[in-house]
Amino acid sequence: MKIGIVGLGLIGGSLALDLRALGLEVLGVSRQEKTCQIAEEKAIVHQASVNLSLLEQAEVVFICTPIEAIAPTLTQLISHLHPAAIVTDVGSVKAPIVKQCSQLWANFLGGHPMAGNANQGIEAATNNLFTGAPYVLTPQANTPPAAVAKVREIVAAIGSRVYFSTPEEHDRAVAWISHLPLIVSASLIDACMSEENSATLLLAQHLASSGFRDTSRVGGGNSELGLMIARYNRPELLRSLTQYRQSLDKLIHHIDQQNWQEVQETLDSTQQARSSFFR
Ligand code: NAP
Repeated sequence: MKIGIVGLGLIGGSLALDLRALGLEVLGVSRQEKTCQIAEEKAIVHQASVNLSLLEQAEVVFICTPIEAIAPTLTQLISHLHPAAIVTDVGSVKAPIVKQCSQLWANFLGGHPMAGNANQGIEAATNNLFTGAPYVLTPQANTPPAAVAKVREIVAAIGSRVYFSTPEEHDRAVAWISHLPLIVSASLIDACMSEENSATLLLAQHLASSGFRDTSRVGGGNSELGLMIARYNRPELLRSLTQYRQSLDKLIHHIDQQNWQEVQETLDSTQQARSSFFR
């Protein structure tokens, strides 16, 4: 089977590596010549080009560009696609993408691998990024069942745990566990950097260890991706941020009033609840 990948960055390149490892023929298209050259030299793909015409024979195409380029990429891709080709994407937000793309190509299925790291670009491509990670597929009532079955088979073969949801449910759920943490983590770093005493800030920077590494990780990642998430999942992100502010205000109030019993109860409850997110 020939697989096409558009956008050879962290996700597209990593997907290419895993699909190649399965013995599939992988054709890659990216914006820059240099990226295509690296992708071929490092054997991330069998063949790479800046021209979408490379994907004429592809049976399944994964669009792995930044969020704002997904629908425009599909628009440009259409004249090159085989009529039976299946197109899917990996964008971190689903409702606006699925709405646009399913109107452009009937055989389109939205998808989102819940895997990544702070790096970006072709040099960040890595093997087994998706192994054991959730991968959400967001079919609609009119999505062809054969397209759903094929994409499900491929993403399960690279070791992902496949989930199904509507695009809207996806966007609400990932706002809680991915998009809210990103903004919270970014604001954590921002708050620390507001320390006015430079000696204190320097000491804090020297003392930062595993706790700060964990809590600041997603706020210190790909800023282009963070911006796109805020722009494209704005309503759900604002909904979760508003609730987060209420939770924070409640804790600030209890600490200010020295309501240690309430602080203890909240921390006991969050300690218990955390494990339910990692089943
Ligand atoms: P990335 O590392 O920046 O890779 C995106 C690549 O797309 C860039 O390296 C760029 O390659 C290429 N590109 C940009 N515009 C293009 C265009 N118009 N046509 C063709 N190629 C283009 O970003 P990423 O982290 O892989 O994210 C890609 C997608 O995956 C996004 O939609 C994001 O929402 C989704 N996603 C990301 C994560 C994550 O944690 N990073 C997780 C799940 C899903 P050139 O070098 O050729 O310019």
